[in-house]
Amino acid sequence: MSKVIILGSGAAPGVPALANGFGACDANNPKNYRMRTGTYMELSGVKFLIDTSPDLRWQLIKNNIKKLDAVFYTHSHADHLHGIDDLREINRLSGQMLDIYGTKNMIQTICTRFPYLICQDEKNLNPIFKAALRPHVVEYEMSFMIEQLKVTPIEMIGHNIESTGYIFNDGEVVHIADFKSLDERVFKYIKRQPEVLIMPLTTPLGTRFHAGLDELKYYAAKINPKRMVINHMAVESDYEEVKRQCLNNMKPTYDGEIIEW
Ligand SMILES: [Zn+2]
Ligand SMILES: [Zn+2]
Repeated sequence: MSKVIILGSGAAPGVPALANGFGACDANNPKNYRMRTGTYMELSGVKFLIDTSPDLRWQLIKNNIKKLDAVFYTHSHADHLHGIDDLREINRLSGQMLDIYGTKNMIQTICTRFPYLICQDEKNLNPIFKAALRPHVVEYEMSFMIEQLKVTPIEMIGHNIESTGYIFNDGEVVHIADFKSLDERVFKYIKRQPEVLIMPLTTPLGTRFHAGLDELKYYAAKINPKRMVINHMAVESDYEEVKRQCLNNMKPTYDGEIIEW
């Protein structure tokens, strides 16, 4: 069985946000309470995270996630990375280093911001004080295997920093990270109808660095997944209103949603 758990479905400030409250979101709808974006998956027997949001501690506890084989990073914005210290509890439970994956720039940024977390030697493992992470550099469009899981990193276009998407098992699951558009080149790596396509929205009308609903509808039609779930929503994105504007095979997601097949 394969599984996706939406740990957080919110954009950088979360919902509610300190400055803007609930914005356009209905405060009476529990689906509009959003932690920052992160996703857990079990695919081909491999258990992994996409990104470590600043809400990671509570996301792992709430969803009873105690074991991880890997973490894939999309980009180095704080809402996707700065819960990294909370991986310590995973090390504490496993007694082993944890493998993390990202592009050369991403891994370099992690090594610069969090040098104390990079561990090359299992003998130095001391998860009482800090996480112990073993970095792996990935390259765009160069597939690799983790046990039976096939991973293909792809480049996102138009975000204000480098951003990476991941295609798993030739398209069984496609995870798109903060982006404005996709290069036509990447579609050839999606060789089957995706069970789940995850795409970030932020605001319905889009911004200079983020795709809006029109772009998402274009990709829902073009990639034609069984289901597209929309995450990374800011206070402008009310759950019911976004849902109302979606095509049949798309819908907004919410914190704690579990998708299995
Ligand atoms: Zn973001
Ligand atoms: Zn970002």
